[in-house]
Amino acid sequence: MKIKPLFKPLPLQKHDATIPRLTPNFPKLAEMKEEARRLGRGYSGEIKVAYHIDVLASEHTILNDVYLHNNGKNFQIDFIVIATRAIFIIESKNYLGTIIFDSVLRQLIRDDGQVESGFEYPITQVENQQLHLQSWLRRHNLFNVPVFYLVAIAEPATIIKVEGDRGSIAEVVAHAARIPKMIIKKDKELAEEGFPRLQDYQIGKKLLHASGEFDMDIMTKYGITPRDLLPGVFCTNCGARGMERLHGGWQCHQCRFKSNRAHLKALADFVLLNGSISNRECIWFLGLPSPSTATRILKNSGLVYLQKNKHWVKET
Ligand SMILES: [Zn+2]
Repeated sequence: MKIKPLFKPLPLQKHDATIPRLTPNFPKLAEMKEEARRLGRGYSGEIKVAYHIDVLASEHTILNDVYLHNNGKNFQIDFIVIATRAIFIIESKNYLGTIIFDSVLRQLIRDDGQVESGFEYPITQVENQQLHLQSWLRRHNLFNVPVFYLVAIAEPATIIKVEGDRGSIAEVVAHAARIPKMIIKKDKELAEEGFPRLQDYQIGKKLLHASGEFDMDIMTKYGITPRDLLPGVFCTNCGARGMERLHGGWQCHQCRFKSNRAHLKALADFVLLNGSISNRECIWFLGLPSPSTATRILKNSGLVYLQKNKHWVKET
């Protein structure tokens, strides 16, 4: 069963919500766009990997994007598959072109045709995740649970090359489509060797309960204040900012498109970035004619009113 599905990571949601609301001369805009591209590439890779991993959901317990705290450190794992005899951690990698695993120097080289650049070695990364998870399991009284790791290459067109020991790399690195079979095979071998059956669902529940969501305060990171965010409701038809409030709905000044719900995305984005919204902020951000309109909109938005600071927040 899939007990923690994949969703768009919060840092990516925040970049996507912020970038269209900054003026073109905002100092860190280029850096933010580059980071949004990197996060987006990672997320689209995870979607491709999830497509293949999902076939295991009928037999095994699956969690996406597990974020755990252990020994004063946080660690994040893209996929955890709890099979009958072992836990498999899977790191998703989304590269274009050709990648070369150098098993001797333990480095990954990407060949974009022109540029070759060094990346963090994925196998070192998953080895560290394995150590963290094994330690976390012991601290939660889950002893003798075998943990294996795999690196899933998301893009089928990516060419994987090896310098050094091809056999050892082939055991742990594969295109995503091959990963389910590798897990099934290993799990079967362990069963034949007499490894005890795991309480996969119970272990999954413990992990789910302990897992947070990886988040980032991008307002602080890039020095953005709420007033740096350009206000207005985006047209869901043409993308223009600043739909007008008319007769209880919204109309685009550019393409004349009408909508009753276009403001919900703007409200959600404001709360995502700032944690909450006040009546006054709502008037400014949506461009509303009066406090009573703002109150009516906020009451129907699905947000929850906190009496103590007179702000609206997301229901938890
Ligand atoms: Zn429009």
